This record gives sequence, C-alpha cells and structure tokens, in this order.
Amino acid sequence: EAKQRGRNRFHLYDNKLDHQIQQRYREQERVKEALHNQEFCLYYQPKVSLRSGEVIGMEALLRWQHPERGLVGPYEFLPLVESTDLIVEVGEWVLDHALAQIRQWQLAGFTIPVSVNVAARQMQQAEFVEHIREILARYPDVPAISIEMEILETAALEIIRGAQIIRNTVDSLGITFALDDFGTGYSSLAYLKKLPVSTLKVDQSFVRDMLHDSEDQAIIGGIIQLAKVFRRKVVAEGVETAEHAAKLLELGCDFAQGFGIARPMPGEQVLDWIRVWQSEHGNIA
Ligand code: C2E
Ligand code: MG
Ligand code: MG
Ligand code: MG
Repeated sequence: EAKQRGRNRFHLYDNKLDHQIQQRYREQERVKEALHNQEFCLYYQPKVSLRSGEVIGMEALLRWQHPERGLVGPYEFLPLVESTDLIVEVGEWVLDHALAQIRQWQLAGFTIPVSVNVAARQMQQAEFVEHIREILARYPDVPAISIEMEILETAALEIIRGAQIIRNTVDSLGITFALDDFGTGYSSLAYLKKLPVSTLKVDQSFVRDMLHDSEDQAIIGGIIQLAKVFRRKVVAEGVETAEHAAKLLELGCDFAQGFGIARPMPGEQVLDWIRVWQSEHGNIA
C-alpha cells in the first residue's frame, strides 16, 4: 500500500516535471517565432548631461509587441531564453536594429550614440567578436564608436576571462562598454582597474532612495569618486525627479537617465523628443 502510494507519487512528480519542461520549451519556441515574425522592437531611453542638458545617447531596450498581450517588457521573456543560445540570436537582432536606427537618424542629420544590453552568454560565445564585426559591416556609414555595450556588473563578474573578452572587443572593433546596475555586484577595485569599461551605470536601487537614505547617497558618492579616479563616465539610472537630478549633480555625477527625463519611447519619437527637450528643458537641474 505504502509502496504503491510511493510509486504513484513518483509518477505524479515525474509528470509535473515533464509538463514544466514542455511548457518551458513551448514558451521558448514562441519567443523564437516572435523574433522571426518581427514582433520585437526597440524602445529608446535618453541619457543626458546633468550640467548642460545635452543628449549624450540613447539606451535601446527590448520590447515584444505581442499580438494578444500587448507590449511586453524584457523581464517577462528574457529570463526564459538567457540560458539558451536563443539569447545570442536576440542580442544580434538588437544590435542590427540599433545600427539601422542610428543610420536612419544619421540620414535625418542627427548623430545619436546607442547603447545595447548584452547578455553574458552572448559575450561568452567563441565567435562573439566575429559576429559583431559582421553586423557592423552591414552599416558601413555607422562608426563603431556610436555603439556602446552594457553588461551587468554581476554578469561581468561571472564571465570567465571577462576582462579579456571586453578588451578584445574594444581593441578590435572600437566599441565601448558600460557596467550596468553598478553597485549590485561586488567588483573588487583590482578587477575594476583591469576592466576596460568606459562607463559605470549606478544602479537605480541606490538612486530611488537616495533623497532619504544617507547610506545610498554615500554609495553613489563613492561610485562617483571611484569613477573619477579610474577615469570612467558615470550615468545614474532611475532618475525620476528634479530633486534626484539636483542631488546627483551636487554629488558630482555627470550623466543621468530615468523617467524624470524621459520614459523609453519608440524610435520614431526620438527626434521629436530631442527637439522639444533642446528647446524647453536644455538643463534639468
Ligand atoms: P537596464 O539595462 O538596467 O535598463 C534600465 C531599466 O530601467 C529599463 O527597464 C527601463 O525602462 C527602466 N527605467 C528607466 N528609468 C527608470 C526610472 O526612472 N524608474 C524606474 N523604476 N525604472 C526605470 P526595462 O526596459 O524593463 O528593461 C529591464 C532590463 O532588461 C534592462 O535593465 C536590461 O538588463 C534587460 N534588457 C533590456 N533590453 C535588453 C536587450 O536587448 N538585451 C538584453 N540582454 N537585456 C535587455
Ligand atoms: Mg542597461
Ligand atoms: Mg541598469
Ligand atoms: Mg537593470
């Protein structure tokens, strides 16, 4: 009797696991289909100088225009594919489309650098540099310096030979790198010194509470000082209000990104946004 129940339980568990695996597989197949059906698109969020208001570039953020669910954000589908090679394809799609967008803006008379988010798995494939080179070659009029790659600080720490891969990419292609969500990993100073990244992006969790939390403020101040010593640029993420911007400027932060400046928007809206920003808000602090 007990043995029987045990066996049944085992079967139940087995079926459930099976079901989960199948479900996951179906969802991954759906993402693949979405990629090939052009259901993905890029939204762009501006990064500006806190001092001058100058627009220094845009971050490309992936969106899924789902036929039934509407606009779906990356947290809802990227985790599903980040552990598979599909993330490589997604990353290459993102870079290709970002370059096409830069080219369009260029033809309209605007030089706008774009940063793309790169997953650890994408960077770790043996052909990473070659694939990026091929994609860049499709856009001979767009200089590589218009592209920056954002890699999570936590991911950078996990990647074996990460510093070397980044250095190869910087040296052979001329693309620059930013460490994303900086402050949430635990990079040692020695590691940071070796890492050829041009920019540190202060994680928005520190910025969110900085006006009331003196420790968060101290962390941001520390990151800014560190960046100055290492001659890296600092971009604060999650800047939602003028008070945030003013405090960041006081702490010596150069650049900012956040809903208080602009929400991510479709590429078609960017030039209009820049025109309005330049005429009305030149300086937000
Ligand atoms: P991230 O790279 O740190 O991007 C910033 C995220 O914060 C974006 O979320 C953006 O919409 C949001 N954000 C910007 N300003 C504010 C603000 O003032 N307040 C708040 N609360 N949020 C703000 P999103 O677009 O949902 O992207 C989430 C994450 O997904 C990104 O974080 C990035 O890690 C990842 N991601 C996005 N696009 C791609 C991609 O093309 N490839 C890869 N591998 N990852 C991507
Ligand atoms: Mg990012
Ligand atoms: Mg971030
Ligand atoms: Mg993030």
